[in-house]
Parts: sequence; C-alpha cells; structure tokens
Amino acid sequence: MPTSRGAGRYAPSPSGELHVGNLRTAVLAWLFARTSEREFLIRVDDLDRVRPGAAERQLDDLAAIGIDWDGPVVYQSERLPNYAAAVTELTAAGRTYECFCTRREIQQAATAPHGPMGAYPGTCRQLSEAERAAKRAEGRVGAIRLRADVTEYEITDLLHGRYRGAVDDLVLRRGDGVPAYNLTVVVDDAAQGVDQVVRGDDLLPSTPRQAYLAQLLGLTVPVYAHVPLVLNEEGKRLAKRDGAVSLSDQRALGHTPEDVVAAIAESLGYSARTTAELREVFDRARIPRKPWILEPIGLFRQEGCP
Ligand SMILES: [Zn+2]
Repeated sequence: MPTSRGAGRYAPSPSGELHVGNLRTAVLAWLFARTSEREFLIRVDDLDRVRPGAAERQLDDLAAIGIDWDGPVVYQSERLPNYAAAVTELTAAGRTYECFCTRREIQQAATAPHGPMGAYPGTCRQLSEAERAAKRAEGRVGAIRLRADVTEYEITDLLHGRYRGAVDDLVLRRGDGVPAYNLTVVVDDAAQGVDQVVRGDDLLPSTPRQAYLAQLLGLTVPVYAHVPLVLNEEGKRLAKRDGAVSLSDQRALGHTPEDVVAAIAESLGYSARTTAELREVFDRARIPRKPWILEPIGLFRQEGCP
C-alpha cells in the first residue's frame, strides 16, 4: 500500500529459476530502496509464462541472499480488475481502439514516415464501426491499443540522464485478453506507491511508453534507474545454459548464498559477503556503467569443467 516513504520494488516473472543476473538486479533494486529509506516490495509478474512452483523458488532464493521485503507479495494474476479499470478509463476518454492485426501483418506494414523503428503503424486506428464488425465476423479478436498523440516521450534516469524514446499506439490488452506488460507495470507501480524503479537496462527503450501512459492516467511517473545487465562471454544476455548461474546450481557445487553475494558485490566494486554489509558501503553514484561479463570460470564454471 502507498506510504509516504515511497517504495522500490523487484518484479520477477516466474518462468523459471532466477540466474545471477536477475539476482544482481534484485540486489541493486533492494540497495537503491534501502539506502534511500524506501520500502521494498516484491510483485510477481504471473500473467504469462508461468512455471508451477517457480515463484516460490524465486522468493526463497531472494530471501537466501538476504533480500527482505515489506508487506505481502503481490501477484498480478490477482489484480486483473485493476488493469481492466484502467483500460475502461482510457476507453471512456476516447484513448483506445481495437486492433485486429496479426503479428505478421504488423511486421509487413510499412512504418509511417518518420515514425519510430518497429513501431505499430496505426493500421487499425481509423477503422469504422462497420469495418470492425466485419473483422469480428471473420472470427478475429481485437487487441486494445492506446491512441497515442505523441511519437516520443522523455524520461529521466539516474544512470542514463535524460532519455528520449519512441511512443507508439502500444497494446494495452492483447488479443488473448491478457493485459499487456506496459499497462500492468504502470498500474501496479502507482497503486503500490512505487516511486523508484530499478531494473535491467534492456527495459530502458520501453520506458518512455510507460511514463507517457502513466501521465495519461494521471499517475506519478517514478524515478528510474536502468542498470547494466549481466552478459555471457559472447556479450549476449545471460541464460541458464551459460554455466552454474542459479543459486541451486551454486549449492550443488558446494557454494553458499554468501559466495554468490560476494561475487555480485565484487562485480559492483565492493568486498562484502552479505547484503547487509553491502548496504553499509553502497554508493549508487559508483555503479559500473558497463555490463558484467560473466565468464564460466571460478564460481560460475560449469560442473565438471575446472
Ligand atoms: Zn491493427
């Protein structure tokens, strides 16, 4: 629930085990919140790609590395009425339209002149009611898109400074009825009083869309800090196959959660074995600006490969 202290959060998707890159981002989000006297919340993004039992294991892993949180864990699957209410509000304000495009049609459609790369070209924006009825009669189920009146929006990020990025007619509710990430994250952060969003910098490009949407809904735009990801030796986003990258992999090798915290601390330029120790010395101005390249050696070597 909203508090005057403000809050940070970590919002994992329970699609599998957290790897050390996820854990490092969670540690950073926790450090930013705790060293600014904010609450720290956990929200499980369980609208899609859910693996049974994964959420529980992720929460256990976060606790094992010394991340604590305030209040009950929020599950997005229990908040569907809130997302529907936001879509209703935007629709009542004339801010939405139905889109019947398939993924393929969107890829094939020429992007509007001077429009942002990869943006939805607005194909269904001007459909008449009769045209929409004809699409539905073909058995097509429409997604709900935002009728955006800008093509760019600027946000401020603690690490990236002022950042301008594309805004298009983003999907609010998918054709399968599932509310879209860009909507749920905005609705939930505001409802939970989250005023500080620390997450991986792969999400930076979609942040202007979210900030624009928050502003349309009359919600406060949070402070952002998009932190560098952990990459594998090839410079690609870390994945399970990149070695002993999860806490359970590490335990199987005889390592403790403190060993993993120590490796994360070292990647941030600190010597610490617990998140409590790290909190004492953490300086957000000193965050490395480059990705952590995780080599499959030392702590993260694959089993059987010395
Ligand atoms: Zn469309």
